[in-house]
Amino acid sequence: MSAPVTQDVHTIPRRLPEGGATNLVGMTRDALREALIAIGVPGKQAKMRVNQVWQWVYHWGVRDFDAMTNLSKGFRADLARHFTVALPEVVSRQVSTDGTRKYLVRIAGGHEVETVYIPEEGRGTLCVSSQVGCTLTCSFCHTGTQRLVRNLTAGEIVGQVMLARDDLGEWPEKGAANDPTGRLLSNIVLMGMGEPLYNFENVRDAMRIVMDGEGIALGRRRITLSTSGVVPEIARTAEEIGCLLAVSFHATTDAVRDQLVPINKRWNIDTLLDALREYPKATNSERITFEYVMLDGVNDSDADAHRLVELLDGIPAKVNLIPFNEWPGAPYRRSSNNRIRAFATILMQAGYASPIRTPRGEDIMAACGQLKSATERARRSRAQIAAEAGL
Ligand code: SAH
Ligand code: SF4
Repeated sequence: MSAPVTQDVHTIPRRLPEGGATNLVGMTRDALREALIAIGVPGKQAKMRVNQVWQWVYHWGVRDFDAMTNLSKGFRADLARHFTVALPEVVSRQVSTDGTRKYLVRIAGGHEVETVYIPEEGRGTLCVSSQVGCTLTCSFCHTGTQRLVRNLTAGEIVGQVMLARDDLGEWPEKGAANDPTGRLLSNIVLMGMGEPLYNFENVRDAMRIVMDGEGIALGRRRITLSTSGVVPEIARTAEEIGCLLAVSFHATTDAVRDQLVPINKRWNIDTLLDALREYPKATNSERITFEYVMLDGVNDSDADAHRLVELLDGIPAKVNLIPFNEWPGAPYRRSSNNRIRAFATILMQAGYASPIRTPRGEDIMAACGQLKSATERARRSRAQIAAEAGL
């Protein structure tokens, strides 16, 4: 019997019990309404109170109830007695020579994840994590070598966006418009640690908070969710989140994709493409991004490029070629620049935009697929030391 391809992470509780006051960050509007009613806010006032608190937290970035000056003193005191507005702790912040910032973020239970901010001309993208580690074991991905510890809560996912805005000094001044154009943090990619579609509800709730027009207000087209191909959740992504979709494709035959992206053994290339063909949001203006990591001698031949063109037929698609980012002990090498360019040329001649992704933040191990928390590394090596010592 072959080993299971995935583990059932749905059995991991969405919210771990935390002592003390309840954190408001990550609650949907409905949950916030219920929470306010539960502390005595009359039902008739609930909608207005939700709006007020929501704007303080997500529009102005205020954490201290006392600074919520349009609320009565008594209500502020009630809020402070029952709730907090808390973000995960930033343990360290590294800045690359290219301006990329990597945050090591500590969440409840002492687990750690990484969040990466990538500045670009006139905009900037935050790469957000959705799980501690990943249950999938893509053979070219550093995160895949880390044992999954748990799913992030919605608050921990929104918290990554909020802590980056803190660091960038990007909460609006009084009276400022809420337009995301020209912001330092203008886009979000769910391309950090973890498989977002194995943590669907929390990712959905977090993105709805981020998209809410009364708060952080990033439109759905500024958010891209990347999946390794969790087919049953793909249609739901369009319906319940509505963001752009990227797929970690990486191979043009099932034999090779089985090796690189083992979830392919459960949902193979044909099944995945069928789901993508039906992705309701996919149009020529909202194409699906096919991510394709360039691995020397593994998936980078001209024949692969031609096969890829055939497979994409009928899907509004663009291809993002990702030069493989190395990590300690990785079993692959990056394809040569000439090979990557030749591959891109075949795709372009077939009419597909196929930009080659420039690795960012490599010097701080912040590039795609390099994320893996230092604590996990430390834990592993301590375990290894213990094993070697026969403990
Ligand atoms: N789990 C999701 C999202 C995170 S990975 C997914 O797999 O789609 C973000 C992208 O980086 C994916 O396309 C992933 O396949 C790719 N990637 C992983 N390891 C990489 C590496 N070492 N070099 C380049 N890209 C890598
Ligand atoms: Fe998980 Fe994505 Fe890495 Fe695969 S590529 S192991 S799905 S994070």
